[in-house]
Amino acid sequence: VSPAATLVHAFRDSAARSPGHPALAYFDGRLSYRETDALSDSVAGHLAAAGLARGDRVAIMLQNTPQFVLALLGAWKAGATVVPLNPMYKSGEVGHVLKDAEVTALICADRAWEAYLRDTAAGAPTVRIALTTSELDLQTRNDARVLDFDRLPVPEDAEDLVAVARRGTRAPEGREPASADVALISYTSGTSGTPKGAMNSHANIMVNAERQRTGHPVAEGSSYFALAPLFHITGMVCQLAACLTNAGTLVLAYRFHPAVVLEAFAAHRPAYTVGPSTAFMALAAHPDATPDHFASFRVISSGGAPLPPALVEKFRAGFGPYIRNGYGLTECTAPCAAVPPEREAPVDPVSGTLSVGVPGPDTVVRILDENGAEVPFGEQGEIAVRGPQVVSGYWRLPEATAAAFPDGELRTGDIGFMDGAGWLYVVDRKKDMISASGFKVWPREVEDVLYTHPAVREAAVVGVPDAYRGETVRAYVSLRPGASAEPGELSAYCEERLAAYKYPREVEILAELPKTASGKILRRELRSPR
Ligand code: ATP
Repeated sequence: VSPAATLVHAFRDSAARSPGHPALAYFDGRLSYRETDALSDSVAGHLAAAGLARGDRVAIMLQNTPQFVLALLGAWKAGATVVPLNPMYKSGEVGHVLKDAEVTALICADRAWEAYLRDTAAGAPTVRIALTTSELDLQTRNDARVLDFDRLPVPEDAEDLVAVARRGTRAPEGREPASADVALISYTSGTSGTPKGAMNSHANIMVNAERQRTGHPVAEGSSYFALAPLFHITGMVCQLAACLTNAGTLVLAYRFHPAVVLEAFAAHRPAYTVGPSTAFMALAAHPDATPDHFASFRVISSGGAPLPPALVEKFRAGFGPYIRNGYGLTECTAPCAAVPPEREAPVDPVSGTLSVGVPGPDTVVRILDENGAEVPFGEQGEIAVRGPQVVSGYWRLPEATAAAFPDGELRTGDIGFMDGAGWLYVVDRKKDMISASGFKVWPREVEDVLYTHPAVREAAVVGVPDAYRGETVRAYVSLRPGASAEPGELSAYCEERLAAYKYPREVEILAELPKTASGKILRRELRSPR
């Protein structure tokens, strides 16, 4: 099946097949495909009426809410390029992106606007559509409020997007996006540096949405739980785009909170979800989690962060499902390799690393040495990717584009290898290598060992300066609720299982490890003196 030109087209196809089926579910609220189509048409009309031109940038800074989806489809229907913004960004980070992408409209929550966006955005964006969903506070499960779309609060000084859309403006004519248009400028999560805006085309998105649909098949109309944030490429493509292409119901729960997510699993019985491995760690460690919470799933997949093999086994033993690994980057519009259906990823016998799967159709993955030459099977090198999901470059950064995409092939900055059967393994990020007494240590390998310890919930390993060894290996660990372990015991546990230069001589136990909003553990923050 050749994918639809854009998600707008695929969404309309789904709406034509299943007009009354819920497209979006949010606590007790539902919006059907017909309603979602009409409301997003209206958002498009309002944006056009406010002066938005084709190709203008619209920033969306929202949690996983129906408004996110209405804003996204509406902006695309108005011919805009969307800039998804992490709602946890502080004014400096928002200001940088609004300026860099020359954003003309910002769709955000009222509270954020009042708190700091008003000043940040002054002078730059010309349109604001305010929302009110951020009033939801899901910190504790008792606070989880039930929202009804007809009763979304509309404060006097602001209008809710749904209320605005209900006033029924028509979508502008002649603004249909085309497959080659830039759909998103996705600022990379900044795990390793200043965010750069990857330009994902509509075609890039549809290639991966279609692959998600065929590679992880679930019945048309199934419920997809949005575990990953929609502002991150994994959430946008593997959940939102895959779901709306398959006439499914996208189940939204504001943001990741384990107790609320478990309740939503019980209420909506989803068939499919994708999230970062840290989300599965948190769910598995939650005292309320039972196998029944996961009984409805046909596909659970992990992407965007390393998946420790011990987590896959603990999860299967505790709850039943097998977590399927997938490897992706913002620059690949989410996945470029995944574990095929009905197969399980092998574990490399030497390093203990779980494979991330095999490259997708039409995707060529090469492993390169420092001179850019391909290395033989089994040897480590930088992972390079060519394929229809790879973006053409970064927004207005010709030098960074030339460096990251020589001849259009993406140099990922990840070290990996390929086995003789074509399975790809990600060793680690090139920049995170530790040099201990002159020996290479990959943090992942040490973390994977820590994850086999029954008390360990999360682990991150970094190199810290050491007068004698140059760098020494230090581990930061958080423990499972109710579990206890001494730092010395964890260090000795690793010493028994790893070469003398690899095991962490220093272990520190923290209540929680620092993470990006997309759920990745931030080694960078642990490296810098705190
Ligand atoms: P920045 O580019 O700003 O530093 P980032 O690298 O975290 O941020 P993303 O595009 O969100 O940006 O993440 C892609 C990276 O996530 C990959 O380069 C890889 O290091 C890691 N990754 C993704 N999937 C996997 C996986 N299955 N196993 C191991 N690592 C993974």
